[in-house]
Amino acid sequence: MAKEPMLKFVNVGRDMPEKRDAGDRKEDFLEIYGDFISAKAEEQASRCSQCGVPYCQSHCPLHNNIPDWLRLTASGRLKEAYELSQETNAFPEICGRICPQDRLCEGNCVIEQSGHGTVTIGAVEKYITDTAWENGWVEGIKPHTERTESVGIIGSGPGGVAAADRLRRAGLQVTVYERSDRAGGLMTYGIPSFKLEKDVVMRRIDQLKESGVEFVLNCNVGEDISFDALREKHDAVLIATGVYKSRDLQGPGAGSEGIVAALDYLTASNKVSFGDTVAEFDSGALNAKGKKVVVIGGGDTAMDCVRTAIRQGATSVKCLYRRDRANMPGSQRETQNAEEEGVEFVWLAAPKGFAGNPVTGVMVQKMRLGTPDASGRQSPEVIEGADYVEDADLVIKALGFEPEELPKLWNADGLEVTRWGTVLADFKTHETKLPGVYACGDIQRGASLVVWAIRDGREAADAIVEQVNAAASVAAE
Ligand SMILES: Cc1cc2nc3c(=O)[nH]c(=O)nc-3n(C[C@H](O)[C@H](O)[C@H](O)COP(=O)(O)OP(=O)(O)OC[C@H]3O[C@@H](n4cnc5c(N)ncnc54)[C@H](O)[C@@H]3O)c2cc1C
Ligand code: SF4
Repeated sequence: MAKEPMLKFVNVGRDMPEKRDAGDRKEDFLEIYGDFISAKAEEQASRCSQCGVPYCQSHCPLHNNIPDWLRLTASGRLKEAYELSQETNAFPEICGRICPQDRLCEGNCVIEQSGHGTVTIGAVEKYITDTAWENGWVEGIKPHTERTESVGIIGSGPGGVAAADRLRRAGLQVTVYERSDRAGGLMTYGIPSFKLEKDVVMRRIDQLKESGVEFVLNCNVGEDISFDALREKHDAVLIATGVYKSRDLQGPGAGSEGIVAALDYLTASNKVSFGDTVAEFDSGALNAKGKKVVVIGGGDTAMDCVRTAIRQGATSVKCLYRRDRANMPGSQRETQNAEEEGVEFVWLAAPKGFAGNPVTGVMVQKMRLGTPDASGRQSPEVIEGADYVEDADLVIKALGFEPEELPKLWNADGLEVTRWGTVLADFKTHETKLPGVYACGDIQRGASLVVWAIRDGREAADAIVEQVNAAASVAAE
């Protein structure tokens, strides 16, 4: 007999904030509903059928031991559940909040496959780690032995900091060079705070600092310090710089005032979340309040922009995408969230140009899906004579990111790149063609996910530890 689906486990931070009033803080919610959430976490965890073919685990990039920590949670053994979950994931509360679980662990849960709704794995992972923080179970790193070898990490996103965590555990000295004024990479300035609260990221950065990791902020490698100088200074160097070259739009009016890049818009909004004064936000240049907003793109960055614009008080928010819903790259869950919040999706629509300066509208070409290309994906084709103008006074370009040209920027000829411009490195050890230089995260695999960057950072750190161990044993002979 089919089991009755249980109540949905409330995921504070994902399901709740958008429905709360401005003064209704997460802490208040937890205070009132803490027991309720705890009961729901146990209830959700107990829905796991312990199927014995843990597709959830094999579809988690970190191969988290999900069935076991669900079983521990179901029996109220939260500390053990936390200890197990952090064995494979340096930042479980972050992944629990922002992994696209519908494409990873939860999408492959056998209960989901049998039509009864997935166990909300991400929400339970977040819950057990948040509980661990509240109870002081999350401890800083105390290496058994301090070693003299040092590693320089360029970039403090999830790839860089996951590696820093692992390297410190092995006793190595770690310095992270970051060009921004805060550490955390896209977890800090890309992903909006309604999905990933900034104090959750900063708490981890602070913990790494307390564990002996040195962060050198406002340090742009290639400008403030040369790549060669880092190689001289450290026994190994890890490149974890992410991908930041925004794809751009062409066409008449593309340079008009009021057309902004997604990352500029999201960074401004995130800085405001930190309490910073941001001139472009105050002037309205990077603020959607009272505006007709059009976001161009169909990926997760576009979803973050539309949902941020709604929260800032835009009068209307539309998202233009040149393919249809079934073919959009962004998470279906995010799209559904955006729709529920009032975003209008205009499928099969591509920008041809822009009216006005400052911008007053987007000239839109209607598209249809044509014959599949070599990859099997249907290419969008223009429908002649169906152009129209979509009113807009703020246009946000969210068309994806490409790698910067690191070999040129860093004067590092031996640093080989792929035809996509990503750094060429071994996919297991992450070593590049330059001895002692490693790469991980988006700069190696192209724009991807936090959880993949964490896995890469972990693997690169393990390979670096092997390298320094090998060098130490040669020196000892
Ligand atoms: C808007 C947006 C939303 C996203 N939402 C999600 C999501 O919900 N879930 C998810 O899993 N993934 C999401 N992603 C993808 C995810 O953020 C990335 O895959 C991940 O952050 C990559 O990690 P990384 O460590 O490789 O690089 P990054 O996080 O990009 O960090 C790289 C760091 O290197 C620094 N840096 C670059 N060049 C230099 C230099 N020369 N010198 C010093 N420092 C340098 C940068 O300032 C940055 O801090 C999102 C991405 C974007 C853009
Ligand atoms: S890390 Fe991500 S994919 Fe893995 S179990 Fe957690 S939420 Fe799922």
